[in-house]
Amino acid sequence: MNAISRKDFLKKGAVAGAVGAAAVALAYCKKKGGEEASAPSAGGCSDVSGLTQAEKDTRAQLKYMDKSDQEGKACNGCALFVPAAAGAACASCNLVKGPISPEGYCTSWVKKG
Ligand code: SF4
Repeated sequence: MNAISRKDFLKKGAVAGAVGAAAVALAYCKKKGGEEASAPSAGGCSDVSGLTQAEKDTRAQLKYMDKSDQEGKACNGCALFVPAAAGAACASCNLVKGPISPEGYCTSWVKKG
């Protein structure tokens, strides 16, 4: 029978944990690399090709911009902001449809409570 001492068990667990952490880090780096490769070079989060005309109009009417020009007001500080999913380059918004930059802004900005 293969008896494992507590010490051996802990050692093997530590090695397995380190291997697992390395695998997660590697997967994250690969994902980051893919994002960079697929991220728009200059457009940021302004690709509205998947939106309806009404959604584009709302975006324009609310003057959404990828980079806020209002000091202390950016999408990531707005109550309507929805953070990006893990691995996604852009976030979203409960009001403005389409990709949203955390550093963006629109005229419907509401301070996060
Ligand atoms: S409402 Fe405007 S400022 Fe607020 S998260 Fe949406 S796009 Fe950004």
